[in-house]
Amino acid sequence: MIPNPTSTLTRRIVIAMLAGIALGSTLNQFGPPAWAQLYLLDGILGVVGALFVAALKMMVVPLVFVSLVVGVTALSDLRTLGRVGAKALTLYLVTTALAVTIALALAAAVAPGGGFNAGRTDASFSGKPAPPLTEMLIGLVPTNPIAAMAEGNMLQIIVFALLFGVAVTMSGARGTHVLKLFNDLDAVIMHMVEWIMRLAPYGVFALITRTFATQGLDVLLPLASYFLTLTAALAIQLFVSYPLLLRLLASLNPITFLKKMRDPAAFAFSTASSGATIPVTLRTVEYKMGVPNSIGAFTVPLGATINMDGTAMMQGVATVFIANVYGVDLAFGDYLLVVLTATLASVGTAAIPAVGLVTLAMVLGQVGLPVEGIALILGVDRLLDMMRTTVNVTGDCAVSCIVAQSERTLDRAIFDDPAAGSVTAATRRPSPSAPA
Ligand code: ASP
Repeated sequence: MIPNPTSTLTRRIVIAMLAGIALGSTLNQFGPPAWAQLYLLDGILGVVGALFVAALKMMVVPLVFVSLVVGVTALSDLRTLGRVGAKALTLYLVTTALAVTIALALAAAVAPGGGFNAGRTDASFSGKPAPPLTEMLIGLVPTNPIAAMAEGNMLQIIVFALLFGVAVTMSGARGTHVLKLFNDLDAVIMHMVEWIMRLAPYGVFALITRTFATQGLDVLLPLASYFLTLTAALAIQLFVSYPLLLRLLASLNPITFLKKMRDPAAFAFSTASSGATIPVTLRTVEYKMGVPNSIGAFTVPLGATINMDGTAMMQGVATVFIANVYGVDLAFGDYLLVVLTATLASVGTAAIPAVGLVTLAMVLGQVGLPVEGIALILGVDRLLDMMRTTVNVTGDCAVSCIVAQSERTLDRAIFDDPAAGSVTAATRRPSPSAPA
């Protein structure tokens, strides 16, 4: 393999992750001294980690709005927009249904939770009812776009940006002025994202050290069967399903894809939030994988919002685990119901840490399992959240590549270039209107 001199940032992020795991686990193992807890974990690392996540989140709304307006104006017509939307939506749903089916099949074969003693935990959990579908549909159109942005309501921001972008295209010379402004804004915002990426090794180190210092690996032991089954299912999705889909549907090299996933994967893993990772995901699909802005700006925020393959897998394995603990037999129809509900719940799951647990309540309710069962798995959820968020984000990138390739707009020269889009290299955004 030819060494890639421009991947130093990625390498530094990976080193920061490993160092964070080592330091955090050591602190946890020996119990951090009071000064380390006060000044290091809650002090310096707490502040650095929180600043890093805040900085990432700060970029999400401006980036998604501006980038999507620019992206929509680059699409040749509304039919293309509809086609891209339909393909992305279908693929997002299909990959999620596939993910939860794999998770259920594995869990049914392994039967995790058989000898688990439910009396061991005193944690409790109470679910919130999911909003009805009608409300979700009405909620797609923002009554106040500024409020939607202030609240970070991604679907509403997407709807407003799409309409705004279409209006820019239809407004003749005046629209052209606006478009030029948005194009320049887009470049400026991406510049800010690159600042944050350069700081990533510090942010990632702080977040991971704190997590591992507080989440001892000993909580895993009683839940090992659940933890390992879900980890195996997530690994299958990551290393088998996405590679196969990329190869079969888009003739793309999955190894190249996975190598390019390292930055967004590290961000997703350390923040446990696909939403906060959007700036890095978007940058990766466009600059490193060659997805045109007109597609990536739409598929990435949409995917972060509605595509949660890892989360759906957690819901599948957790359902089987909780059923086993409570001695409930799931019928074939129950499994189908879990596939359906987990897929839909993933659409309604916000892209923030631990929210998958809330929608798990909905899935359990559908098959008549006690919602309190969620309390059993709370202890290991943070670590699994980090892993499933990584899968969620990888799914968004894979679908973005497949859709772009199916539209013949994926820039293969960028996809195949190992150094493309490196933060240290001169970066360029592929021209959306020029097919490869
Ligand atoms: N943390 C996940 C995400 O942001 C959602 C979840 O599974 O809780 O993608």
